[in-house]
Amino acid sequence: MVGIPQTDPYANYCAHKDDIDVAITRVLDSGRYIMGEEVSSFEKEFAEYVGVNYAAGVASGTDALELALRACGVGLDTIVFTVSHTAVATVAAIERTGAEAILIDIDPDTYNMDVKCLETAVSESYSGRAIAIVPVHIYGHPADMASIRQIADNHELFVIEDCAQAHGASIDTRRVGTWGHMSAFSFYPTKNLGALGDAGAVVTNDIDLMKKVRSLREYGWTERYVSDIPGINSRMDPLQAAILRVKLTSLDAENKQRRSHADRYRKMFYTSSVEIPYVQSGVQHVYHQYVIRTAKRDELRKYLLSRGIDTGIHYPVPIHKQPAYCGRVGAAGDLIHTEAVANSILSLPMYPELSSTEVDRVADNIINCPYL
Ligand SMILES: *Cc1c(COP(=O)(O)O)cnc(C)c1O
Repeated sequence: MVGIPQTDPYANYCAHKDDIDVAITRVLDSGRYIMGEEVSSFEKEFAEYVGVNYAAGVASGTDALELALRACGVGLDTIVFTVSHTAVATVAAIERTGAEAILIDIDPDTYNMDVKCLETAVSESYSGRAIAIVPVHIYGHPADMASIRQIADNHELFVIEDCAQAHGASIDTRRVGTWGHMSAFSFYPTKNLGALGDAGAVVTNDIDLMKKVRSLREYGWTERYVSDIPGINSRMDPLQAAILRVKLTSLDAENKQRRSHADRYRKMFYTSSVEIPYVQSGVQHVYHQYVIRTAKRDELRKYLLSRGIDTGIHYPVPIHKQPAYCGRVGAAGDLIHTEAVANSILSLPMYPELSSTEVDRVADNIINCPYL
C-alpha cells in the first residue's frame, strides 16, 4: 500500500504544474532575474489578499521577521516578547537584530501566546528596553490579536505578527497580518502558500515602516549604490514571485480543502480518546497543521509509521530547552504549558491534495491503534 506523507509540496506543484511552468518560462524570457515587475506585481496582489496597503517581498520568513523588527527600531539592548512554542526562526530572527527575546507561556487550548502571561511580563520594567511583541499564529489558528494589540497599545509596544503558518486565517473576517503594526509571512514550500524554494514577505499599512523595510532588504539603499542605513541583501526571487502569483489565486480554495479534511478528522475522532484541535469561536483556522494530543504520542507515531502513515511533531523541543538557547534565553516565569504540550502533540497528514480516503485511512488507523 502506498504511504501517506505528512505534507506534500510536490503534489501541490503537480496541481498547478501547467500554470507554474508557463510562469517560470515568462521570467526566464523576460531577461530580468532580480526584483522587477514580477516581484512588484506579487507584492500588490498579496497586499490586496491580506487586506493591507503594502507588501515587500524578501528572501525568507526569517528575514521578513528580522527586517520588520529592525524597521520598528528593534536592535541591540532592546527586548522583544514572543513564545517558546514556535519554529526556531521566530527567536533566531529576534536575536539576529541584536535584541533579547523574552519567552511567554502558551494557552494550552489554542497553543498561542497566553495573554495573561503577556500582561504580567510587559508590566515588569525591563528599564524601558521592551520594544515589541511577536505573536505567532501557530498551526494556522489566530492568536488573540484584540487582547495583544490592547496590551501593546497600553505599553506603547509594536506588534509584529508571525503569520508564517496562517496565510488566509482570520478573526471576525479580518485577516491575520492586518492586526499588528507589521506582519511577516514565510513562503517555505510546505506553508499554506508555498514557493518552490525560499521566500517571504513583510506587510503593513504604514508607509514609513514599509519604506524602511524596502531599504533594509537591499543594502539600506534609497537611491541605487548609496546606503543611508546598514542593510542586507534579502530580495525576493522573481521566479518565486511568479510561482507565488499562480498559487495565490488558489489559496482560499486550498485552505477550504484543509478545513474540510479537518472536519472529516474531527467527525472520525468523535469517540476517540485523542484530543482534537480547539477552534475559538469567530476565528477562521487554516490548518497549516492538524495537531492532536495523546499521552501515548510516541507509541502512536511509531504504530502509524509501521502502517505507512507519516506524522510530524511541531515542535519536539521548546526553544528555551534547545542547546543553542538553553540557560541563555529569557523566559517570563515557568513555561508550564509550553513544556507539557511538547510531549503529547502529533501533527497528522494535512495538505490540500490529501484525499478523503486517505483522511479516513489515517483516522481509522488511529482509532484502531492498540496502544491508545
Ligand atoms: C516557517 C516559519 C518561519 C520561518 O520561515 P522561513 O521562510 O523558513 O525562514 C518563521 N516562523 C514560523 C512560525 C514558521 O513556521
